[in-house]
Amino acid sequence: MASTPHQNPTDQSDLTSLKGRIPLLGLTGGIGSGKTTVSDLLGQLGAGVIDTDLIAHQITAPSGKAIPLIREQFGAEFLDPSGALDRGKMRSLVFEKPEARKSLEQITHPLIRQETIRQALELSQAGRPYLVFVIPLLVESGNWQGLFDHIAVVDCSKDTQIKRVMERNKLTLEEIEKILEAQASRAERLSQANTILHNEGGLAELKPKIQDLHKKMLGFRTNQPTSS
Ligand code: ADP
Repeated sequence: MASTPHQNPTDQSDLTSLKGRIPLLGLTGGIGSGKTTVSDLLGQLGAGVIDTDLIAHQITAPSGKAIPLIREQFGAEFLDPSGALDRGKMRSLVFEKPEARKSLEQITHPLIRQETIRQALELSQAGRPYLVFVIPLLVESGNWQGLFDHIAVVDCSKDTQIKRVMERNKLTLEEIEKILEAQASRAERLSQANTILHNEGGLAELKPKIQDLHKKMLGFRTNQPTSS
């Protein structure tokens, strides 16, 4: 059995210490909706971006922190020849067996949280005006309740999601449908949104909406003066 760290994935003690000191934006949306595109644009405008999806990929890349624990728990057959997590194989397993998903999350969630906190503190200390947390399953997990000053949901039609993900990830329609089924519905997600970023068109249509959101986040008042 793997000796997974016994930390509560919902523990936000170090993140809540940032609350009120720097505006915190939660950014979510279904697969292929455009979260990365939006967070890249906000990052270009000066926001501090913490992408939990990127962190999840990094810890499951060759030599990633989760790899020894995954090998111990699931066996070397769940690693590809480069030593990274075999995502396709693991995806099939966790869709079949909910308990396997739980075991995987017990390994990955504490590591993702640890790195999220580290990056958030670093970006805050570096003087970023606000922080953006990109969290694909923000609505589904319930782990982030109450942390954010503002929640933005990137939204587009299911057809657009499928088209983008087919092009980007080379997944089959069936694989994408399965992922979509496991995610919150559009309606559930939109019900949590303070800002909805419709992302059906091109970048020229999206950019002004991102600038508006950026201005909104700069306008949030914090309890403490910044270090200046
Ligand atoms: P997510 O992070 O939500 O999975 P991405 O930001 O990676 O989604 O977007 C999925 C794909 O669609 C990417 O290849 C991205 O370049 C493209 N895309 C997203 N939004 C737009 C847009 N407004 N215009 C053109 N391409 C876009």
